[in-house]
Amino acid sequence: MSLVVMKFGGTSVEDAAAIGRTAAIVKGRIALGKSPVVVVSAMAKVTDQLLRTAAAAAQGDRTGALAVSSRLRARHRDTAAELVKKHDDCAVLVDLVDRKFDALDEILRGLSAILELTPRISDLIVSHGERISSLIVAAAFHDKGIDAAHVDAREVIITDSEFQKAAPLDDFIEKRAREKLIPLVQQCKVPVMGGFIGSNEAGITTTLGRGGSDYTGALVGSALNAEAIEIWTDVDGIMTTDPRICPDALRVKVISFEEAAELAYFGAKVLHPATILPAVKKNIPVLVLNSRNAMNEGTRITSLAPHCKSPFKSIAVKKKLSIIDVVASRMLMSHGYLCQIFAIFDKHKCVVDMVSTSEVSVSLTVDSNASLPDIAADLSKLADVKYEGKKALICLVGEDIRGKNGMAAQVFNAVRHINVRMISQGASEINMSFMIEEDDADEAVRSLHAAFFQDPDPSIFDVEARNAVHSS
Ligand code: ASP
Ligand code: MG
Repeated sequence: MSLVVMKFGGTSVEDAAAIGRTAAIVKGRIALGKSPVVVVSAMAKVTDQLLRTAAAAAQGDRTGALAVSSRLRARHRDTAAELVKKHDDCAVLVDLVDRKFDALDEILRGLSAILELTPRISDLIVSHGERISSLIVAAAFHDKGIDAAHVDAREVIITDSEFQKAAPLDDFIEKRAREKLIPLVQQCKVPVMGGFIGSNEAGITTTLGRGGSDYTGALVGSALNAEAIEIWTDVDGIMTTDPRICPDALRVKVISFEEAAELAYFGAKVLHPATILPAVKKNIPVLVLNSRNAMNEGTRITSLAPHCKSPFKSIAVKKKLSIIDVVASRMLMSHGYLCQIFAIFDKHKCVVDMVSTSEVSVSLTVDSNASLPDIAADLSKLADVKYEGKKALICLVGEDIRGKNGMAAQVFNAVRHINVRMISQGASEINMSFMIEEDDADEAVRSLHAAFFQDPDPSIFDVEARNAVHSS
């Protein structure tokens, strides 16, 4: 049985046309003799809208909350009706969708009376996105000749009770996957389930955290020992840099898990690699693929990086950052000082990206955010503080910088015309990052890309695509 888990993100199920493409992709895998298990996100933007209705209801805006729900109902009903051509099947599906929205409206009405949105209720509300999208996708597959079977993900993905960020309980999931999914696959059926949602041992609905459908894909793939996990999105995979900044950017054919993780932390939004850890632990390859361009090979993420002749795989850039300089001569030789500084960031729930210290000063970079003045006020009780916005972080990632001489010289030579404010290597041996003015960021990326991807290794990068563009 060559089992593949195919996870389709919100844009791959955003409307009837997208779901049609998704069905064709799944059919293609079946034609190749594969046994797919399908995991879907909510239709694009639905999770955000559900969170908005929940917030409105919790503020007593019953009418506003029900109005958003009613628009969502219409969108799902219309999509269902467009996809399922057989009259009776369509009526059954639309009725199912209606019943789910009736239940959601009941919760919203209750919430607008109680006026308290707990994490548990929030999970119950947002779970409707995946619960309904998976029903529609399963029915659409059926209509298009795929023997699909809808599975309620909450019966498979068993988690702890940390609502909104529940941790999966692997042993339970393995057992449930064997009980609920394997028999379907053995009958040549295609299980279709929602990502992101689960339930605790008592059966109460939980979620794995935003973007959690990739996590579901990896959990299911690992529980079933799948031969591959495919993450279908709307981009061709991981690129050498942002193609909007640098049109010469190339698709990276293969990248290690560690490299992909570094890129994700620095803003490459393709997927959050922490979520594919279960697959990496079992050595199951993860492929990032484009449902709008299904013929493209995408990016393969593997536990070990194949050898690459180019030192870097990708250049990430993160903008809208601020730099905070904390200077205190008192810091000299004192312990516990960094701890006090970080406690302040923790108190304000502010994520720190990069840190650089000297004997008397600490510089930190954070996303520019509204709490910066308050953070600075707290820090100024300990030391002198300055902060400045409009900064960008450039991060070069590659396994092959480990142990290579002269890399820093080459990097900073490529951006010698640009003022560098802060530098970090060290922490992970596979990234080199530095901070510059935001206005210089695009130019820096282009200069670095020109310097390091002049003669890219064709076994790692999709050089053919670039050549095709240049010769046409
Ligand atoms: N629908 C969820 C979200 O938007 C999960 C996902 O799409 O991965 O966060
Ligand atoms: Mg997503």
